[in-house]
Amino acid sequence: MTDLRDFPFYRPRLDGRGVPAPWSVEDLEDFAGAHDDPFAGRVRAGAKPRVALQIEATSEPPVWSSLDGRDLDAWAGAVSRLWARFGLGAGDSIAFFDYGSNPCVLLSSSIYVSHLRRGAATRLGASVICNDGVASMTARLLGILEAVHPSALVIRRDLIAPFVDALGTRGLPPGSRLRWAAVSEVEGAPARADAERLQAAIGAPVRRLLRADAAYLVSGDCPSCGLFHLDPAYRAEPLAGGGVALSARFAAECPAIGYRLDGAEIVGRGCAAERRAARLAWS
Ligand SMILES: [Zn+2]
Repeated sequence: MTDLRDFPFYRPRLDGRGVPAPWSVEDLEDFAGAHDDPFAGRVRAGAKPRVALQIEATSEPPVWSSLDGRDLDAWAGAVSRLWARFGLGAGDSIAFFDYGSNPCVLLSSSIYVSHLRRGAATRLGASVICNDGVASMTARLLGILEAVHPSALVIRRDLIAPFVDALGTRGLPPGSRLRWAAVSEVEGAPARADAERLQAAIGAPVRRLLRADAAYLVSGDCPSCGLFHLDPAYRAEPLAGGGVALSARFAAECPAIGYRLDGAEIVGRGCAAERRAARLAWS
């Protein structure tokens, strides 16, 4: 059982019931800067991080999360269920056009991160291929589409423009088996217009991802209701005045309890596609 009093970041934030005041990436940066602690007080004193992962939304000072194998496997499980819902299955391959700092890439296979036993795609019997997430590598992505015939593509939002431009010139390679794509943003979710632009270019459904790395959140919008379904690995509670306090149930090394997800609102359960899923609206 995690006792948040063991963690310097949380200790002063706890109320009488042991619930921390909601916090943001800025609070982590402030703590990291004030205490010269790259983990921003979210690991126990003396703990030896197995895997340290920089939260991509932080820059100066950078803030890192610490995870062990159990955390990584639980997180990969949440990503795997998301891919399954999007339609990734045995024998498929999924291509990434993004950095390895995107947990969707990092957790897809144990070849990308130590201590992870089974990656999110591996669990489904799918294989992975990753292209560096920079625009100058767009031609190589077309080569991957031609040679590997991935069933799915996860692409960083700012790479949609060079990719769509390249498709405008060369088109999708003949025999493309791309069934769906998903667009990712460093923090939050990309605009619908970005997804629609890519959808028009590839002629396949494009889903939007909702990311908050400080709370290990990866969620995806739903083709049926348009809302972001929340995996059971996460818990969301409404905040007075709007927004959501988000917690990752699985993270023990570096807990994420009460992350303030501004821009999200909780919508009741009951989607026909996944009746029991908690859902978030994002604006
Ligand atoms: Zn839905």
